[in-house]
Order: sequence, then structure tokens, then C-alpha cells
Amino acid sequence: MTYLEKQSNPLDPVHFRGNLQADYLYTSGAAGDKFFKHIMENDSFLASECEECGTVFCPPRLYCEDCFVEIPDEKWKEVPAKGTVRLFTTAMLNTFGEPLEVPKIIGLIDIEGTDSSMLGILKTKDQKQDLTGITVEAVFRPTQEREGTLKDILYFNESG
Ligand SMILES: [Zn+2]
Repeated sequence: MTYLEKQSNPLDPVHFRGNLQADYLYTSGAAGDKFFKHIMENDSFLASECEECGTVFCPPRLYCEDCFVEIPDEKWKEVPAKGTVRLFTTAMLNTFGEPLEVPKIIGLIDIEGTDSSMLGILKTKDQKQDLTGITVEAVFRPTQEREGTLKDILYFNESG
């Protein structure tokens, strides 16, 4: 299938080969900007807590999406860059379908002290281990090499 062919069943999986130009700019917004500036200088995360329902967002949000209320600055807090692995997968191929020299484990991590999860690369000595439920801690780039992006988090290491 090429990208010019019409897809008749929206449930059919679609796969394109080749290059597709996709120019876009996605801004991190005011809350995301604060989050990324924080991780440039700290080995922790910023979170914000809704006063109405108590949900703690990480990365932080300016508004609660459930209660439609603003989250004021005084409800922002620092949380440790730690969490619990909820689920994970092991990538054996790169984005071009070529085998990776070292398989990459990607996990969904429930961030400690929040109601949010974050994707991250997991480092473990045992590739076959079931990582579900283990506690992990973010390993950041050296402070002078940080750029204020998620790439400042190199990976998550098993902790404790
Ligand atoms: Zn809320």
C-alpha cells in the first residue's frame, strides 16, 4: 500500500515503506517548559496536584483535565525521579527493521508520588527477567550536557 491509496477499513493495520515528509512543531507549553527547565538542573521531576480531585500530574499540567480547574503554582511540587514498572516490552529491531546489537527494553513507569506514568528505557542485567513491579530510578545525563528534553533521562535503573 502506498500513502496515496485509500484505506477502506479503518481497523486494518497500515504500513508504509519509504519516506513521508512530516514537518511539524510541537511546543511543550508553559507547564512542559517548567518541567524541562527543572530537569536541566535537578535529578527529580516536577508534578502538579489538582485541588479538587487530588490527582497528581507528572509531567505537571496547568489545568486538571477531569475537573476543568486551574492548578495554582502552590500546588506544584518536586517528586523523586523514581517509579514502578507497570509494563515493558523488549525491542529487538530498530525503526528500519534491522536487528539491534543490544535489545532495548522500554517500560511504562508509574512515577512515585503521582498518578502519572512515563515511558523510559530500562537497564537491567538480566534481559529475561520479568520487570513488572520492580522499582526504578532515572539516570540523567551529566548536568552540563543536559538540553531540557526527555533525552536528558538516559534510562531508568533498577533501584533498591
Ligand atoms: Zn481534578
